[in-house]
Amino acid sequence: MAVKLPIYMDNASTTRTDPRVVEAMLPYFTEKFGNSSSRNHKFGWESEEAVDLAREQAAALIGATPKEIVWTSGATESNNLAIKGAARMYAKGPSGTTGRGHIITAQHEHKAVLDPCKRLETEGFDVTYLEPPADGVITRAMVAAAMREDTILVTIMWANNEIGTINEVPEIGELCNSRGVIFHTDATQWVGRMPTDVERDHIDLLSWSGHKIYGPKGVAALYVRRRNPRVRLEASQDGGGHERGMRSGTLNIPGIVGFGKACELSRLEMDSERERLLALRLKFERELSARLPVVQVNGHAERRLPQLTNISFGFVEGESLLMGIKDIACSSGSACTSASLEPSYVLKSLGVGDELAHSSLRLSLGRWSNEEEVDYAINAIVKAVEHLRTMSPLWDLHNEGIDVSKIVWQTH
Ligand SMILES: *Cc1c(COP(=O)(O)O)cnc(C)c1O
Repeated sequence: MAVKLPIYMDNASTTRTDPRVVEAMLPYFTEKFGNSSSRNHKFGWESEEAVDLAREQAAALIGATPKEIVWTSGATESNNLAIKGAARMYAKGPSGTTGRGHIITAQHEHKAVLDPCKRLETEGFDVTYLEPPADGVITRAMVAAAMREDTILVTIMWANNEIGTINEVPEIGELCNSRGVIFHTDATQWVGRMPTDVERDHIDLLSWSGHKIYGPKGVAALYVRRRNPRVRLEASQDGGGHERGMRSGTLNIPGIVGFGKACELSRLEMDSERERLLALRLKFERELSARLPVVQVNGHAERRLPQLTNISFGFVEGESLLMGIKDIACSSGSACTSASLEPSYVLKSLGVGDELAHSSLRLSLGRWSNEEEVDYAINAIVKAVEHLRTMSPLWDLHNEGIDVSKIVWQTH
């Protein structure tokens, strides 16, 4: 079978909407266009019914009840609502004072968690940013060691979006539960791929997003626990009191219908999909490590998502590597800031050096990835890395047995 180019291996950034999801959404743009808040006619009832079904589908995927689902516009909004909403609701003192409460998170969280935490620091909250170990896994012990008398909120992601490492979320949930501390997890890369049960795993708040699980963009959910304990959030936008007052605004009905359908498909298909993608990911790592020297798979050896790998290639220049594999859509270990190419803060927090971070690739597989594509990508990467190394004087020195990290460069 001929491989169709370019190959999409960036499913951690976004996924293609499943055609079955699109099909479910379509009637809600045209014939069934009612506002779910219209309580006195059929158009409204029809939409409300569709939203209720989506709530059930979303809740079933994570072991919640439908009333615990709050619709949002993305995991970014879910994280903001959860983190700021909980901190402000459970704050010790009034706005403008200091010492309003302590929050625990980690340095390699998504910006949609880190930036709300930074905002809260300006409002008088203290935040501890845990430094991850080299394997990237945040453990219960690390969170326990950072807990204080005044800790009100812990926010630790379930699985990391750049390296795929899996934190000790059920253990951290149990710890928070025993201390009476609210626990939020950004589960955007986890839910829909791995079995999730908010009851068993003691989670109070959980964010996930439609477009990461083959649903549409711009629609997401926040799970908000209703009992044992009942979690309350300060709303971030005021209005018609939708979503139990936590998130006002007319609901995005077609998007929500698509989100629900995507949740249902993931729930039914995740076991077989996980097995298939894990086999492909392992092949990727095995073959690249066997065919190329000085290759490093980043993050913990086992505690990683099945569909995602992050690999560093020594002695190649990151941008040239990306140019060399133009047919493969993936992410690099560099982030474009306004002026320059910065090494990924996630890899940096794990202690990966700047050079190696720049020459790292994040390859994330998805529902339509297949073995032919993986084989093509392996060959393309091997070829590009070998070619770039033939042009690298550092690679020559390395092969002569010189430790290039110890070389003192002459500067002008
Ligand atoms: C993609 C992603 C987000 C942001 O989700 P949006 O729906 O695009 O706002 C947040 N956290 C993680 C871990 C992600 O992977």
